[in-house]
Amino acid sequence: MHTDPIAVIGAGIIGLLTARELALAGHEVVVFEQGTIGREASWAAGGILSPLHPWRYPDPVTWLARYSQDRYPGLCQDLFEATGVDSEWIESGLLRLGVDESEAAQEWAARFGVTLERREDGAPIAGYEGKEAGLWMPTMAQVRSPRLLRALAQDLKRLKVSLHEGARVEAIRWQRSVFKGLVVNGEEVRARQALVAGGPWSSGLLGRYGLTLPVGPVRGQMIVIQARPDTLTTMVLKNARYLVPRRDGAILVGSTIEKVGFDKAITPDAREELVAAATDLLPALRFFPVTHQWAGLRPSSPTGVPFIGEHPEIQGLFVNTGQFRNGIVLGPGSALLAADLMLGRDTRWDPGFYAPDRVPGGTVREPVLG
Ligand SMILES: Cc1cc2nc3c(=O)[nH]c(=O)nc-3n(C[C@H](O)[C@H](O)[C@H](O)COP(=O)(O)OP(=O)(O)OC[C@H]3O[C@@H](n4cnc5c(N)ncnc54)[C@H](O)[C@@H]3O)c2cc1C
Repeated sequence: MHTDPIAVIGAGIIGLLTARELALAGHEVVVFEQGTIGREASWAAGGILSPLHPWRYPDPVTWLARYSQDRYPGLCQDLFEATGVDSEWIESGLLRLGVDESEAAQEWAARFGVTLERREDGAPIAGYEGKEAGLWMPTMAQVRSPRLLRALAQDLKRLKVSLHEGARVEAIRWQRSVFKGLVVNGEEVRARQALVAGGPWSSGLLGRYGLTLPVGPVRGQMIVIQARPDTLTTMVLKNARYLVPRRDGAILVGSTIEKVGFDKAITPDAREELVAAATDLLPALRFFPVTHQWAGLRPSSPTGVPFIGEHPEIQGLFVNTGQFRNGIVLGPGSALLAADLMLGRDTRWDPGFYAPDRVPGGTVREPVLG
């Protein structure tokens, strides 16, 4: 019997990973991306596979992060074997300097089985010689986000997922509380379910159908300093600024947090501030050139816990967004939960913690448009 496909709206990390889960479960999937595949926040990300200060987050963030951290090496390996694209998963470790939060950090690490060591005397860690005390998490890893996205897109084609670029979902069709289809670039498209994975644009779309999500754009700017491959081999974080060394000597410096709406412009002030933070963390970086600067729009959430689940009033319409600063590390876990809910499978975590209507501000009212 022919059935309509499942539609995924948005080809960032969240849409692509969820589409992959659905396709691997044997379902026909179609992805609509208004721009270019994987070119928004997901492309801009530093690729750190950990929240920056993970103990500060509610446990539902850690549940998704721990699951994803365990999955990433295998995922990158599978993608490499299927596509030949190396996502550069590297267990480079993360050294966290700055305000002493070791008590909370150690309690969190013990609860979630994370290796975390106190570095009392500023002894060199993985070649980093800064003199400050800090916390060392040797098992924290990174990926090169643009390559991960490229690998995912290629793998989805292999899995017969149909990917459409320049395809903007303008409206959602539903009848008697049941999802029916989409309007894409003015054309009616039938689908049996849909997942809104539109990053910070998700709330604009869903807001027209009775679901008000407290998700909005938060700009992040980054720069790259092109150093020699051996200049730094661990990720270093102090307060809100961090260094992420790639294999080829590129060192990413991130990132700003700016509420400026959907403005993705880069600014000279941010560049200056990031260069200052980088040379403060690693003075040798002043000898190397800044080669790139970019910005992306994170999909915010009040507590960092994403919104994953079914629209409370429209059966068959789902959402997966609000991963905020952590969409890469939360991606595999978020995708699994969304796919489990869409396919009616048992879920690994209590979905109530992620429900789209769970918080004040994430209110539900009667859907008004059909
Ligand atoms: C500077 C920076 C650094 C970051 N560093 C890290 C990090 O180190 N580690 C980490 O885990 N996370 C990091 N993040 C956060 C992470 O990038 C985001 O949480 C994640 O990319 C969100 O993914 P997404 O798929 O929801 O959104 P996006 O990547 O924005 O994708 C959503 C897609 O949906 C499309 N879309 C929206 N509406 C429609 C529509 N109506 N029709 C069709 N298509 C639509 C958009 O065009 C877009 O391509 C960083 C973010 C920034 C900006």
